[in-house]
Amino acid sequence: MKLVLIGIPGAGKSTQGNLLSRQFGVPYLSTGHIFRSIAKEKTTMGRYVKETMNSGLLIPDEETIPIVEEYLSRREYKKGYILDGFPRTLNQAKKFKNSLDKIIYIELPDKEALWRIAYRTEDVRDDQTVTAVMKRIEIFNEVTRPVIDHYEKKGKLIRIDGTKSIDDVNEEILKLLGKEFHENKVRSWSQKQKIILAVTGLPGSGKTEATTYFKKKKLPIVHFGNIINDLVEERGLDHVEDVHKTVRMEVREQHGMAAMAILSREKN
Ligand code: AMP
Repeated sequence: MKLVLIGIPGAGKSTQGNLLSRQFGVPYLSTGHIFRSIAKEKTTMGRYVKETMNSGLLIPDEETIPIVEEYLSRREYKKGYILDGFPRTLNQAKKFKNSLDKIIYIELPDKEALWRIAYRTEDVRDDQTVTAVMKRIEIFNEVTRPVIDHYEKKGKLIRIDGTKSIDDVNEEILKLLGKEFHENKVRSWSQKQKIILAVTGLPGSGKTEATTYFKKKKLPIVHFGNIINDLVEERGLDHVEDVHKTVRMEVREQHGMAAMAILSREKN
């Protein structure tokens, strides 16, 4: 499973990333962590990364892309990974060669993110000052939004409401990935209840065409209109609206307003 987490600072990406990593048994990799460790190096690159991060700005793509690709080429990431913080620009998304399964966008209003960060008491980082966080949110809105649109067009995006509790967000992510966590294991989610879909509309609106789709999926179709068609035919009458109306009234008088359902049940 190759997943990417996207969201503004404070949305809960690393919390969810670590949970998903344990649940799926694949490593969690955060580009923020990578850059924070580079920032500790007493080198020109280290100083440059530290300064860039502390002002809330992004490290240029030319540096970021090769670093991430080098990490992901390591053996431990072969089976899959949970990637947090990359791709963050459209250029990164387009140049990234790995085939991703899903991109999880944890949505959180800017204000809520600022509250969360302001009230964070543990591990307060240099890039988590209110000014730096505001800058990071601004960059997200300008630079990362196109990444979200890009993956949405490809049908790979999952949107999650990040205002909910950690457990609810996790459950929702798993659900939208078609999974559920049961007895300490992730398993594929299966539809347990039967679903009945009603296709309604005026004559000629395309009900038959719409139900053809479900026929292809081998779902049984109950066509209420066939009840009247068959009765008209059995009686050797013509298929004209007046005749259909009379037969319809007749069966309704006999069986009530649920006539079509009752007669369909008898037929099927
Ligand atoms: P994060 O912890 O993911 O918010 O990342 C912290 C900082 O690391 C960001 O504000 C950037 O300066 C840098 N960074 C992380 N990921 C990227 C990326 N994909 N592209 C550019 N800079 C990044």
